[in-house]
Amino acid sequence: MTTKPLTGPELKELADGLHRLSRNLWWSWDQEAQEIFQELSPRGWQNLYHNPVAVLREVSDYELQVRLQEAGFADRVRKVLAAFNAYLSEPNTWAAQHAPQLAKNPVAYFSAEFAFHECLPIAAGGLGALAGDHAKSASDLGLGFVGISLFYREGYFQQAINHDNWQTEHYNLLNPKNLPLDPVLNADGDPLVCSVRIFGTTVHFHAWRVNIGRVPVYLLDTNRPENEMLYRDLTTRVYGGDHTTRIMQEILLGVGGVRLLRALGVQPSTFHMNEGHAAFLTLELIREKMAAGKSFEEAGALTKQECLFTTHTPVEAGHDRFSQDLVQMAGGKFATNLKLTPAQLLALGSEHPENPNAPFCMTALALRFSRAANGVSELHGAVSREMWQQFYGAKTPADVPIGHITNGIHLVGWIKGPARRFWRRKFVEQGGKEADFVYDANTVDFWKKVTDPAFTSDEEIWALRYKLRRELIEFARRRLLLQGRSFNQGDFITFDGMLNPDALTIGFARRFATYKRAPLIFDQFENVVKLVRDSSRPVQFIFAGKAHPRDDAGKSFIQKVIHLSKYSELKGHLVFLENYDIHVARQMVAGCDIWLNNPRRPLEASGTSGMKTTPHGCMNLSIMDGWWREGFDGENGFAIGPDSHPADVAEQDRVDSYNLYQALTEQVIPAFYNRDANGVPRQWIGKIRHAMTTLAPLYSTWRMVQEYTNKYYLTR
Ligand SMILES: *Cc1c(COP(=O)(O)O)cnc(C)c1O
Repeated sequence: MTTKPLTGPELKELADGLHRLSRNLWWSWDQEAQEIFQELSPRGWQNLYHNPVAVLREVSDYELQVRLQEAGFADRVRKVLAAFNAYLSEPNTWAAQHAPQLAKNPVAYFSAEFAFHECLPIAAGGLGALAGDHAKSASDLGLGFVGISLFYREGYFQQAINHDNWQTEHYNLLNPKNLPLDPVLNADGDPLVCSVRIFGTTVHFHAWRVNIGRVPVYLLDTNRPENEMLYRDLTTRVYGGDHTTRIMQEILLGVGGVRLLRALGVQPSTFHMNEGHAAFLTLELIREKMAAGKSFEEAGALTKQECLFTTHTPVEAGHDRFSQDLVQMAGGKFATNLKLTPAQLLALGSEHPENPNAPFCMTALALRFSRAANGVSELHGAVSREMWQQFYGAKTPADVPIGHITNGIHLVGWIKGPARRFWRRKFVEQGGKEADFVYDANTVDFWKKVTDPAFTSDEEIWALRYKLRRELIEFARRRLLLQGRSFNQGDFITFDGMLNPDALTIGFARRFATYKRAPLIFDQFENVVKLVRDSSRPVQFIFAGKAHPRDDAGKSFIQKVIHLSKYSELKGHLVFLENYDIHVARQMVAGCDIWLNNPRRPLEASGTSGMKTTPHGCMNLSIMDGWWREGFDGENGFAIGPDSHPADVAEQDRVDSYNLYQALTEQVIPAFYNRDANGVPRQWIGKIRHAMTTLAPLYSTWRMVQEYTNKYYLTR
């Protein structure tokens, strides 16, 4: 086949298209787009955190033009660009039909962290993952939506483990030029600069725009030459530093976020606070209204109509509390602007009005000025109503105005390549249009088909499981080799013996907050050793996760797991992968057979990592907490213990580790190794099918954002 060489203008159009595409994270949920950038520079792709902008900076314009002349390549680029443009210009979205008014007055979603992709590491964990997935689905649904966060130029820390198996933190400086970020400019083409007052100083900031499909997310950045050093460094790290840094970041996020939106001419219909970090935005909204002549009471009531608050954790440390002095000093003119006495200002963040010396609580401030508030699962809603009963002076918890919307994930973005190709092929074989897959994969109907053996056979599902598990094990081995320190001299002989591609693979990866109890299973150490030594029914464990830099208890959990992986009988059957991030998460949720979740109930408000496993045929083994309490139906995975927990924490840990071991030996392992003559575990695959049907379409942000829209965004 001979193809005509491309003309100059054609080449330019495709090259420009690729540059434009690289600056829209739509590529992060489009497999073909990623493959194009990967092909341009496979090494660059791998070494530069799978970042198309960085890849295009490596590949010169000259080389790009040559590559575009390669047979077939230009056609694929054209196809991806056509899909991208069709996505951006689709008029017939869900929101066009169900929420058209939000196009003009969007939802402004404030979050201290957003996890979009590993190349932009500006999130610490699940809260950011949820925010990122919320934005992606808002885009897919065509919702009027704008996100606000901070640009942390050193991001969240990179984890390395030292010789004592202790976590150490280091930071990479992010260069905006190499990232999918566009500077926000004013009419003259200069950076748009706004300011906030912090500690009596005027702090200037500019912003970066991240394009998430159809929606923008703005990241505020104080790294400007006119700021004092202290303030230039304010946005250096995610939740960086002490209380003082934290309150300064939160003033920037809340007050600065509102000011940026005003400067951009955006008039949101709802300000959605994702956690209390952004709650100072309420004070700015009140200030604006008072400047326009309203009284404090009138302005407060109007502000309350505009705001919505989502609380994400019952864990005390997750609710910011600042000393009164700090609020007064850092907040500078808050009281003056609102014509309040200092005591009246402080009362806005008070949980206990009877105690005038109580710290200033951001959750209390957010609740006070929100027309609605919600927890992130049914149980978490109930727990939150109890927590805040006194605050509301409610007779019973049922009278507390906090509802719930259960979290979800951006399903299509989380399905790993081979699984996505698998499901799309099935979809097309059934007469579906390839381009519709990204929408149909969100529907109940699509996942219902999975129960039908004519749609996909047991053998095909089992083959997919093998491929995904093997890819994880290859990934883990490569990572372990890079971690290096995990191996002593001579260990290379046993390298292939590290992890077994046929074994039942159990994964645990999330933040190492102590309530998540990462090492719980090893309370049954002798028993676990027996399990991994059973060569006819082998079991293995892959762990990953970061502890907060100041959480020594969490770090000691990491130390314990790594120590066992190197020096106990579990060696070779237990590994710890360093530097957990979205990329590691994606490998693990796809490759594992079982996703272990054993938090101290009821502290896991929702949890989302377990939702990411379903489309890959990995199943959950979890305490009946958060989303799993709602998702589990007796057959679509495995429960650890009953839907209740002992009051005593030590007793709870003891009972839960025992129940975990019981569920493993009595249910999980027998079902996984119950094979027919061809080696296929029919019963196990039946459960996988059932899990996909009952969980995949429900625990998604596609469903969740619709729920937020119908229940909260449109009910003003
Ligand atoms: C999904 C995800 C989480 C959330 O995990 P939980 O089990 O809900 O705690 C945290 N970190 C990353 C990188 C994730 O992708």
